[in-house]
Amino acid sequence: MSETIFTKIINKEIPADILFEDDKVLAFKDISPQAPIHFLVIPKKAIATINDIQQEDDAVIGYMYRTAAKLCAEMGVSEQGFRTVMNCNDDGGQTVYHIHLHVLAGKPLGWPPYQEKRKV
Ligand code: AMP
Repeated sequence: MSETIFTKIINKEIPADILFEDDKVLAFKDISPQAPIHFLVIPKKAIATINDIQQEDDAVIGYMYRTAAKLCAEMGVSEQGFRTVMNCNDDGGQTVYHIHLHVLAGKPLGWPPYQEKRKV
């Protein structure tokens, strides 16, 4: 798998606004926030898409969600609520091929979360 920008963030080759880090995951603010709070939780292991998650990765996927919930609690938005999203491939809107959990909060979020692509 070719290296993504998130590997560079893990390796501190490019900067990021890091919220949490340990040996398994990294959480940092999204560079293009879509809500007052928008951060990403990524595994340190490079997994390209949801389709590439292996059984051995089950624990880290759960840990990504627990990290998201812990950070939301620290930010005081647990009760009000938040949204997690993981996009997969083109139709899912994935642009960085290292899985990442988007965590959005701080305002009421609309549903459904998509707009039909305009036909040309
Ligand atoms: P997705 O489209 O689901 O693959 O999401 C990729 C996300 O990564 C987007 O929300 C981008 O704004 C975000 N992103 C891309 N580059 C960076 C970066 N250098 N630092 C923080 N977030 C980034």
